[in-house]
Amino acid sequence: MSVATAARYDFPGGVVLPPVRGAAAEAAIVAAGLPARLVLPLQQHIGTPSVAIVTAGERVLKGQLIARSGSEVGMHVHASTSGTVAGVGAHPIAHPGAVSVPAIILDADGEDRRAEPLAPIDWVAVTPQEVQLRIAAAGVVGLGGAGFPTHMKVREGIGAAVHTLIINGVECEPGVSADERLLRERTREVLAGARILAHAVQARRCILAVKRNPAVEAALAATADAAVAVVAVPASYPAGGEKQLILALTGIEVPSAGLPIHAGILMYNVATAAAVQRAVVHGEPLISRVVTVAGAVRRPGNFDVAIGTPVAHLLDAAGGLTDPGAVIVAGGPMMGVRVHDVRVPVTKPVNAVLALADAAMPVPALPCIRCGRCVNVCPVRLQPQALYAQARAGNLDAAQDLHLFDCIECGCCAYVCPSGIPLVHYYRYAKGEIDALDRAAARAQDARQRFEIRAARALGDDDGPVDDNGSGASSDDRRAYVAAAIERVRSRRAAAGPEPAGGDDGGT
Ligand code: SF4
Ligand code: SF4
Repeated sequence: MSVATAARYDFPGGVVLPPVRGAAAEAAIVAAGLPARLVLPLQQHIGTPSVAIVTAGERVLKGQLIARSGSEVGMHVHASTSGTVAGVGAHPIAHPGAVSVPAIILDADGEDRRAEPLAPIDWVAVTPQEVQLRIAAAGVVGLGGAGFPTHMKVREGIGAAVHTLIINGVECEPGVSADERLLRERTREVLAGARILAHAVQARRCILAVKRNPAVEAALAATADAAVAVVAVPASYPAGGEKQLILALTGIEVPSAGLPIHAGILMYNVATAAAVQRAVVHGEPLISRVVTVAGAVRRPGNFDVAIGTPVAHLLDAAGGLTDPGAVIVAGGPMMGVRVHDVRVPVTKPVNAVLALADAAMPVPALPCIRCGRCVNVCPVRLQPQALYAQARAGNLDAAQDLHLFDCIECGCCAYVCPSGIPLVHYYRYAKGEIDALDRAAARAQDARQRFEIRAARALGDDDGPVDDNGSGASSDDRRAYVAAAIERVRSRRAAAGPEPAGGDDGGT
């Protein structure tokens, strides 16, 4: 394999970040060992929560299905080791809102006994749909941090004329080296996963994107694979962002609110590719992943971690904290989530646990001086200072007009802001408010429709296209029927005159 032609294009903005002290890039992957208790949240992915199919007291084997996908956009969860289900209940997770979610609590028996794996698949001989079903059965999600169900992305790609498949090995947050170690130590797994994904989505070409790194390039050069072109990109941040990397590799700018698939492109993380290889070739569900533990710990390292392992166990595996005041972050220092409780588990998308001794403590922000630095570094060409002003004032429509939802929350703007304004907090808050308003509006609309249907039926208008489930009628039919029914209700009430005091009961 000829390694690393340089990326031909660049993306706007971005910053060059200093390294994290206590990096782990030179530490080979080792097993983190099993904790006594694992916590497997039913929501470890983007989509609907999984549904537990085990109950307290049940014994399970490693790799056994313990929670089913709740819908098409759901995800299976498997036991990461053998043991006994202690219960299913709320447990804190790493989340910006420090929330608790339903989780299966599993007490390990220490035997690590495996369930029968799925049968291996000869992926060259089967259809793309069969590969997609296997990926779904194995519970594989995007391991680069997003947690989007991988089988959904494959399904998007099947029949969609994908011209370029990108395997993203550009780990651009400092201190995180899990993907680098995979590329150096499990090169064949990653490349095989890339070929399987390329087959599944029938991609015309496959690019493996990496950071400029002699050790990674040497590992790839030693593993000839003509089907995968390796391209190196500069180590600026956020070079590994989806749209930024697509632009750097192909010159194609995915439009605002557009998806890569609309431009004939799909992207998966290198760890996802390796998980796909294990699912398809070995029949293994996704029950472990590589996690970097670095920063203020005694032995920074890259660990093979059973999904559901508490952060506290990982910190112990890394020798414990060297600074008890360090800020613990799940993920990288820029986009990671602060961990307030070390009982939170490593979930499928968590690629790092960093202990940041030198994390800037929040200080009161100063007013915006309109210096424009944030504008210069925004990789999405937004106006961060204007977005901030609108979000802060609660002008949510104006914030949306400024493309709030194109913000990838990379934090470049806040990183360079001389006034120390926590800009990303404002964007997250505004997005959360808009989502909450949208959900409330949808609930109100549902409630109004249900009321109108009941009102229409109470007056004997229960013939028509509407049934209890809304099935058998298109939404347009349903709306038209409801509107007509309501109009009839109003006319009859007007014809009957004013209602007696006491309402419909007649005061009896
Ligand atoms: S960098 Fe900070 S101070 Fe400068 S314009 Fe942006 S928000 Fe204002
Ligand atoms: S956090 Fe959002 S606004 Fe700030 S630089 Fe990144 S994309 Fe631009």
